[in-house]
Amino acid sequence: MLEILNVKPGDIFYNSIILIYGLSFGENSKNLECIDSHGKANTWSILNNQFKLFVKLYPGRNEIKLKTFQSEVILILFRHLKPLNSKHVRIFYVVCNDDPNCGEFQSLDSSRNKIQNALKRIDLNIRLLQTFMSEEIFKKYKTRKTFTLKCDLNECDENVEIFRSNLKLMKALEMSSDEIFLYLLDEIKKRNSNRECKYIAILSFTRYIPGQNEDIFKDTKGYCALASDCLAVYGTACLFTWPEELDELESCCSDMRKVDSSQMNDSAFRNTYSDCYSTTLGSLLHEFSHLLDLGHDSEGIMHRGFDDLKLFFNIETTCNCYDEFENVKSNNEDIQKISIFKTQNENTHKSEIEFLVRKFCLFKTTGNNELIYSQKSSCFQSIRTDHKSKECNCMKNCFYTKSNLNILFYHKWLNDFCSKDEGSISFNCINECQYEIKCTNDLVLYELRTNQRNLTFDSGYPGTTSLTSNFISIKQNNSNKKEYIFEINLNNLKQKLFLLFGNETRNGCNNLSKYKLNQLNNDCRTSQNFNIYLFLLDSKGCCLSKKIPIM
Ligand SMILES: [Zn+2]
Ligand SMILES: [Zn+2]
Ligand SMILES: [Zn+2]
Repeated sequence: MLEILNVKPGDIFYNSIILIYGLSFGENSKNLECIDSHGKANTWSILNNQFKLFVKLYPGRNEIKLKTFQSEVILILFRHLKPLNSKHVRIFYVVCNDDPNCGEFQSLDSSRNKIQNALKRIDLNIRLLQTFMSEEIFKKYKTRKTFTLKCDLNECDENVEIFRSNLKLMKALEMSSDEIFLYLLDEIKKRNSNRECKYIAILSFTRYIPGQNEDIFKDTKGYCALASDCLAVYGTACLFTWPEELDELESCCSDMRKVDSSQMNDSAFRNTYSDCYSTTLGSLLHEFSHLLDLGHDSEGIMHRGFDDLKLFFNIETTCNCYDEFENVKSNNEDIQKISIFKTQNENTHKSEIEFLVRKFCLFKTTGNNELIYSQKSSCFQSIRTDHKSKECNCMKNCFYTKSNLNILFYHKWLNDFCSKDEGSISFNCINECQYEIKCTNDLVLYELRTNQRNLTFDSGYPGTTSLTSNFISIKQNNSNKKEYIFEINLNNLKQKLFLLFGNETRNGCNNLSKYKLNQLNNDCRTSQNFNIYLFLLDSKGCCLSKKIPIM
C-alpha cells in the first residue's frame, strides 16, 4: 500500500517539478517507479518504508503513475501557467564573446561539460530550488507559493538563456568577484529594462587553478557568489557535480566519490561530490534569497544551513519524520481519510471533478492498494510544527526560519498582487527612542538587522496586538489600526550589538550588505559605524528598511 503525505488529487501547481513523499507498507519493493504525464519513468528508492520523489508536471492536466511490485496509484494533478506579465526570474548562462571554448565549464569529464550540459543542469536545479521554496512555505502556511521562472509563463521558452557578455575572457579571469558582479549588473541592466524581472547569472568561465592558498576561493578565477539589486551572480566551478536529469538526482545526492585535487572542492570541508553539489546549489539558493529581501540569520539557509540542501532531495536513514506521523495516526481517532470533495479547487473543470471522483472511488475499492489522503490532518501538522523537540532532524539546518518564510509568503515576487493594492509605509521620528509608523496595509513583520552583515537578530509579528521584544515594542495606535508607535530599548540594543560583533557568516557574503545598504544610505560605504536597521513588511509585500541611530 502506498500513502502519499503531501499531495492529493486535484492539487494545482504553478511550478514545474514537484516533490511527492509518503509511505509504502506491506511491500518488498526497494524501489518505486514514477511515470510522468509524458510517459517518462524514473526510479526512486524506498528506505525505512519511506519514499521521496520528484516529478515534472507539464502545463495542463497531469496523470502521474506510482508503481511498486504490489501497488499502482494514479494521481491527477494540474499545472497552470502564470500570466505573461507576472514578476519572474530570468536565468542567464554568461559566456564571454571571445571564449574559444564556447561556454564549456570546468570538468574532468570533457564529454559532458558543453554548453548544452550546462544549460540543462542549471535549468533542472533552479527548478528544484523553486520546489524547495514551495515545500518550505507549504509546511508553515499549507499553501504553495514560489518564485516564477520564464518556463512558468511559457514552457516552450528557453528557460536558461545564453548571455553573450562583452567581457573579454582574459579580463574576466583577472577580475575580483565584486568587479564581475558590478560589470554584469551594469551590462544586464543596459540590455534589459523590464522591472518585472530579476536575474540569475551563472558564469561559464569560472576556473579553479590549484595553488598554495588555504582558501579555495583565492585559487578560483572568474568566480562570484553575490546578490544585490535585481541580480544574483554565481560561478560554475562545481557544476561538474550537479545532476543533469531528474533520474540522476538521487545518485548525485549520495555520490561519495572524493573530489579530485585538480577541481574546485566547495563542500564545506566534506570533500565528496554530493557535498559539493549540496553546498554550491545551496549557496546559489542563499544568494538568490537575498534578492527576495532576506537578510542573514543565526540559523538555516540564511546562515550556513544551505550546506545541507541535499537532505531535501533524498531520504536519510536516520529520518523519523513519518514515524511521527504513524504515531499520531495510531493514537488518534481524528485522522480520517479526506475526500477530494472537501479540498477540490473550484477552478477545476466539472468533467475533471467527475473523473477524479471515479478515480477516487477506484482507490477505495482496490483494497490493499487504497490511497489515504491524510495531508490535511490538523493533528499531524500541529505535532510537526509546534512541538520543536519532537521534530525530525533529518533536514538538519536546511530550512528557512519563520521570519524568512513570513517575508517570502508576502513577497511581491511570490504573489500576484494588484498594483492598486500597492501600499506605503512611513516612519517618523518622535524622539531618540520613539518613532511613529503609518501604513496603508497591515504590518505583518518587523526585523532588526545590523548594517555590517545584514544580520537579522530580532524579529516578530506586529499583527493585531501590541508586541514587545527585548529590544523594541510596537503598539497599535488605538484610534487608527494602521498607525503604530515604535519604541526602542537603547541599552539592550547596544549590549546586543557588542555581542554580535565578530559573528561569522558565509565567506564573501559580507560584501552584499555593503551594496544593499548603499542603496538605502549613501554614506554607508565610507562609514564604518555599526548601525541597526528596522525592516518592516506589510501584507501586500511593501517593505521599508530604516536606519535607527543608536550610538
Ligand atoms: Zn525526517
Ligand atoms: Zn548572504
Ligand atoms: Zn552572499
